[in-house]
Amino acid sequence: MPNLRADHAHGMKLVILGRDGTLNRYRVDHVKAPEELDPLPGAMEAVARLNHAGWHTVLATNQAGIGRGLLDMASLNAVHLRLNQLLAEKGGRLDAAFFCPHTPEEGCDCRKPLPGLIQQIGERFDVQLSAVHMVGASLTDLLTAQAAGCVPHVVLSGPLGSLEPHQLQEVLASVPHAQVHADLAACAESIIQAERRRVAEQRGQALSPDTLAGDLH
Ligand SMILES: [Zn+2]
Repeated sequence: MPNLRADHAHGMKLVILGRDGTLNRYRVDHVKAPEELDPLPGAMEAVARLNHAGWHTVLATNQAGIGRGLLDMASLNAVHLRLNQLLAEKGGRLDAAFFCPHTPEEGCDCRKPLPGLIQQIGERFDVQLSAVHMVGASLTDLLTAQAAGCVPHVVLSGPLGSLEPHQLQEVLASVPHAQVHADLAACAESIIQAERRRVAEQRGQALSPDTLAGDLH
C-alpha cells in the first residue's frame, strides 16, 4: 500500500503518457476511430503496474486532426473510451486525457513541444512538474518534457525504434537527461524501482545513527 502521508508531502505521484507509439501502435495516418487503436504488447499491463504502485497516469496528446476537421470530438472521445476499456481489462486506468486540438498554424501554447498542455496537467493535479515523469515515443515528447521541467523518458516502441543507432543518438543529443527504454513495460519498471530506492534512501537517512546523535546529545 502506498504511504499516503508521504505521497502528499511530495505531491501526487504522476506519470504523463504520450499516446501513439507509447500505449498503442503508431499509425502514419493517425488513429481516427476506436477500431484503429491497436494496443502495444504489454503497454496496458504497464499502466496497471504503475497504478498499482500508487502512480496516477494522465494522457497528453496532440490532436491537430480536430483543428483540421479530420477527426471530431465524438470520435476522439470514443478512441479514449476504448483506451480506458482496454486498460480496465488489465486493471489499469487513465485519470484524464489532455489533448491539444489545434493546428500548428493556430499558434496555441498547448501543442507539444510547447509545455502548455503539461502545465495544465500540473495545475489540475496540483503537482510540481519536476517530480512528474513524462513518457513519450518521439522527439516532440522529449522536448515537451524538457520544456515543462518533467523527468524525460522515451520508449522505442514507436517511430524512434526504427532509427539507426547513430540517428537515434542525434535525436537523444537534444535531451541529454532522457531515459531510454525499449517499451512502456520497461519504463514503468524503471520508474517503480527508482521510486522504491528513493523512499528507501530517505528512510535510511532518517534512521541513520548520525541523524539520531544530534537529538540524543
Ligand atoms: Zn493547442
